Amino acid sequence: KPVIIIVVGMAGSGKTTFLHRLVSHTMASNIRGYVINLDPAVLTLPFGANIDIRDTVHYKEVMKQFNLGPNGGILTSLNLFSTKFDEVISVIEKRADQLDYVLVDTPGQIEIFTWSASGAIITEAFASTFPTVIAYVVDTPRSASPATFMSNMLYACSILYKTRLPMVLVFNKTDVAQHQFALEWMEDFEVFHAALDSDNSYTSTLTRSLSLALEEFYKNLRSVGVSAVSGAGMDAFFKSIEASAEEYMETYKSDLDKRR
Ligand code: GDP
Ligand code: MG
Repeated sequence: KPVIIIVVGMAGSGKTTFLHRLVSHTMASNIRGYVINLDPAVLTLPFGANIDIRDTVHYKEVMKQFNLGPNGGILTSLNLFSTKFDEVISVIEKRADQLDYVLVDTPGQIEIFTWSASGAIITEAFASTFPTVIAYVVDTPRSASPATFMSNMLYACSILYKTRLPMVLVFNKTDVAQHQFALEWMEDFEVFHAALDSDNSYTSTLTRSLSLALEEFYKNLRSVGVSAVSGAGMDAFFKSIEASAEEYMETYKSDLDKRR
């Protein structure tokens, strides 16, 4: 069975560029990939998608028809598409023997996928049929301040909490800034505290407490540094995906069955 990799992350973190890199890497390494684009608003895709939401729903038309702004248009397009998602699942099931990975790109604005009913329906449809892993893409240079880093990690944590799927943190753009600082902050909260303002302001105190609470979250994660632009870190990424897929089989699958 193929492993589903759902790529999420803040707008501009590099999801689409990273997916493009994954597509080139799989092609060059004889890994059999299948590509799904769930972003109805993307103008041009740098890669060829096997299934493209834009072939089914026309986001500009949806905006006009339902009198919506851009975000409402994207969300409604995703809702419309999710009603037919069982067809997507059966297409993949038919090809399951010939596939190693299914690579899924999601809309630029993270909450459209992670905080919508349709995002939950799509994620659940994947996870109940195939081993499914969330790749959470982080804009490493933009997460260099402790406060931004913390808010990004809280968001990742909330997605883990909501989906209960194995997650790989993908520190992207390491061609601009190395992700070593992030690994050190996650490994040892004292290093993180040292990077914080040592004042007793409300936010500093809160950030310190939160970093203690996140210890448990960090422990259960895999992190890799990559550059979607240079292609660094691809082998490490796929190793983490493999380990996460095994974790899915051992824990998440039985947990899912129990909840059903
Ligand atoms: P998305 O909204 O998450 O899909 O982000 P995009 O893939 O559209 O990328 C947003 C911006 O980040 C674009 O200008 C990309 O060229 C840039 N970008 C993406 N990945 C990298 C990377 O690894 N290194 C650098 N330097 N820029 C990147
Ligand atoms: Mg994108």
